Amino acid sequence: MILVTGGAGYIGSHYVDYAHKKGSEIVVLDNLVYGHAEAVKDSATLIRGDMGDPKLLDELFTQYKIEAVIHFAAYAYVGESVKDPAKYYKNNTVCTLAVLDAMLRHNVNNFIFSSSCATYGNPHYIPMDEAHPQDPINPYGETKFFVEKILKAYSRAYGLKYTALRYFNAVGAAPDGHIGESHDPETHLLPLILQTALGKRDSISVFGTDYDTPDGTCIRDYIHILDIAQAHDLAMQRLQSGGESAFYNLGTEKGTSVREAIVACEKVSGKPIKVKEEPRREGDPPRLVASAAKAKSELGWKPAYDDFEEIIRTAWEWETHRRY
Ligand code: UDP
Repeated sequence: MILVTGGAGYIGSHYVDYAHKKGSEIVVLDNLVYGHAEAVKDSATLIRGDMGDPKLLDELFTQYKIEAVIHFAAYAYVGESVKDPAKYYKNNTVCTLAVLDAMLRHNVNNFIFSSSCATYGNPHYIPMDEAHPQDPINPYGETKFFVEKILKAYSRAYGLKYTALRYFNAVGAAPDGHIGESHDPETHLLPLILQTALGKRDSISVFGTDYDTPDGTCIRDYIHILDIAQAHDLAMQRLQSGGESAFYNLGTEKGTSVREAIVACEKVSGKPIKVKEEPRREGDPPRLVASAAKAKSELGWKPAYDDFEEIIRTAWEWETHRRY
């Protein structure tokens, strides 16, 4: 049995669905503050609770035969992390310690962690590989970076085995449209553009048009959620067959600008999208593009989605038939 924290959230629920279809048995622990029970109703046992509660964790580890933990649970609003860092340090870092300590108490050794390209901070070079210096520029990125450091120390001291996966921009939805992205509030570019195409919003704000990029807008590496799910599955197999602890970037290795994203969404949706040019959003690096060579060679990761429009089509299918 695999314990998946935050399994009812956007990235977690797509992993749970993927792993369930491959035959894994999963217990999801989620406080449902941002997660959706509906997202895992057919694919896992859902326990609603707080991952920082050692008593609950002991009960879970005792009741279910947990062999490994995949840890998605975290708050993930960069802007909020600047305004309320305490919330982020407590939830994302301190509560993660509670999960790791429960693993040690119950002799569970394999841990997969949702890390982020936000641990790198401003890019020194592009594409960014795993050796890129890590100097996060906001508390959210710091919480992920702290956990990476904790993992290294726990591994040295207690023999914990981990894989930390540094996601670039997770996007898209299950192609059959039964689960997808649903944040409240929504702050991410792609769902906001598609909701504008659907007429749910008046316009899409473009944050910054004077960056040193070909069209002046920020460039990101948008990776499909099922490719992220696949990487977790491969990372789990690798750990369970004795692989060493490691860090991997997950990205497409291609950059897409905000303007390019809007044009692609217009094409996929067939609707005109009204754009509002706005000042830069604080803390946005101009360009983030992954090198994912390490995940490809060591995990055997083969992302299935490398065409940006195809990725958007899955998100569009979800946005037009959302269930939650
Ligand atoms: N962005 C934008 N308008 C929006 C939301 C995002 O122009 O309404 C830009 C943002 O500045 C960034 C990119 O889109 O350059 C991706 O932002 P998102 O919040 O989706 O992900 P992030 O890269 O911050 O994790």
